[in-house]
Amino acid sequence: MKTKILLVGIDGLILKTALDSGRAPVLQSLRDKGYFSELTVDAPTYSGPGWSTLLTGSTHAQHQVTDNRFIGHALLHRPDLLSRAFYQDQSTRTFAAAGWPPIVDPTGLGPIIHERREQQLAYQHRVIVRDGETYGYQRIDSEIADATCYAMEKFGPDVSFVYFCDADEAGHAYGVLGDQYLSAIERIDHYLHRLISLLDARVQQEAEKWLLVVTTDHGHIDEGGHGGDSPQEKASFVIAVGMGRDNPHWPAAIAPEELTPLLLGERS
Ligand SMILES: [Zn+2]
Repeated sequence: MKTKILLVGIDGLILKTALDSGRAPVLQSLRDKGYFSELTVDAPTYSGPGWSTLLTGSTHAQHQVTDNRFIGHALLHRPDLLSRAFYQDQSTRTFAAAGWPPIVDPTGLGPIIHERREQQLAYQHRVIVRDGETYGYQRIDSEIADATCYAMEKFGPDVSFVYFCDADEAGHAYGVLGDQYLSAIERIDHYLHRLISLLDARVQQEAEKWLLVVTTDHGHIDEGGHGGDSPQEKASFVIAVGMGRDNPHWPAAIAPEELTPLLLGERS
């Protein structure tokens, strides 16, 4: 049986801040037992280019997303992780859930994850679209978490991406040194706990093999905000934990655009 992949994207997460705070015990345990690599993302450190690179395995020059407006992007020529997993094996069932519309919403900017309407109609590609920009990410992330837990429990999709933006929003509003940023991280850490419990149950009951992967698109400056090329804004990471299988044997140091090819390699 092929490994199933759940990639968790936590927007604007400074991993060091999260772990040093002691308020992200689940992230800490994943960091301790998983494969780990620091990633250095390219400037400008905006979400658009950051997630485009991580999710399509492309450099900024290749996907041509330079900011969050997506003007003149080449994403139609740079299929995402879920699409590529499907093209590689057309029995692959995929799932994506995000509250930042450019990642999944076909009616807006992007989207980074291709719509693949025929596969949606066949229930082979399930997509949860929410709008955290309008309703706020604390509320929307909890809906995203609920929908993803439901999908993991009920369907166990082969390749999934779930995206949380509560911490990034708190960082923008309050900076990353205070309680608000850490409280948001704590909420996301609890979503991770729920997801891991469901994957554990699948591993036990269905004898499935899973790879749980966590990453971020950029950090923040202390007072909140990103886009520049400071080390704290460019700092990202990959944690990958095998469940019902070994951790992946990936190079000690990888580049952001290498994540998607490495994940696809785990499916072949
Ligand atoms: Zn971002």
